[in-house]
Amino acid sequence: MQADTLERTTVPAQGEPATGLVNAMTVDVEDYFQVQAFFDHIDRAAWDRLESRVERNVDRILGLFDEAGVKATFFTLGWVAERYPQLIRRIVAEGHELASHGMAHFRADGQSPALFREDVSRAKKLLEDAGGTRVNGYRAASFSIGSRNLWAFEVLAEAGYTYSSSVYPIRHDIYGMPEAPRFAFKPEEGAGRIVELPVTTNVLFGRKVPCGGGGWFRLLPYAWSTFHMRRVNARDGKPCMFYFHPWEIDPGQPVQHQAGLKSRLRHYTNLERMEGKLARLLRDFRWGRMDQAFAADLA
Ligand SMILES: [Zn+2]
Repeated sequence: MQADTLERTTVPAQGEPATGLVNAMTVDVEDYFQVQAFFDHIDRAAWDRLESRVERNVDRILGLFDEAGVKATFFTLGWVAERYPQLIRRIVAEGHELASHGMAHFRADGQSPALFREDVSRAKKLLEDAGGTRVNGYRAASFSIGSRNLWAFEVLAEAGYTYSSSVYPIRHDIYGMPEAPRFAFKPEEGAGRIVELPVTTNVLFGRKVPCGGGGWFRLLPYAWSTFHMRRVNARDGKPCMFYFHPWEIDPGQPVQHQAGLKSRLRHYTNLERMEGKLARLLRDFRWGRMDQAFAADLA
């Protein structure tokens, strides 16, 4: 089915958001070579020798947000803050929320509690020093907090974070905690000191449908995500949380031919259409930073 046909048949309201709710727009600030899909194919030791495109891509995103009058939350790697402190300052100066994506995109569930503590503490300090602002939020690489490592919430609270956005309440091959609540919750492990704000899902025929961005937004027709997001706003009465990456608006990035077919399909499909889709999404809904959209949950 063509994208425009799907839109006509399933989305009655065009342009106007279903409710006045402010949804959270978020960006995971990492470069194209740091993604999970290429984990086995690109040596971390080579990262500094590869062509970096994160700065120019984030600049384009800042431009898109500025044009749309949108403030967002940037979950940024400590690795990026170390190398591009001026980029961190631009994000903060333009009124966006600076948050942490850990140091160097190691999965939270692949680290010991001690290593994880060091990772999230170091990233927080680097970002705070570069941005001159407090960092309250954390997002694990590949949404890698789940039933196997709930201890991570305790570590995050101790490191001074007040919220996390690291749980994807669906079943997926590289992430997911299907039994997790769909909306904000205070994990027991955090002893009430930290709030988890999961990626948005809608429920259709008793199944959770992911609609918070990522590959789902880029690979499927525009109307698929927005139909579900409008449902969450209208039926659940909750804000949505949407995420994407700087490399997703960059069709000119070097291609990793050595990666597997599935990884390449996921990573490279529709990159050239992403910026236009995003611009439309910014117009069709109301957007704000995590700490604004979820102010009631974080109070
Ligand atoms: Zn990431």
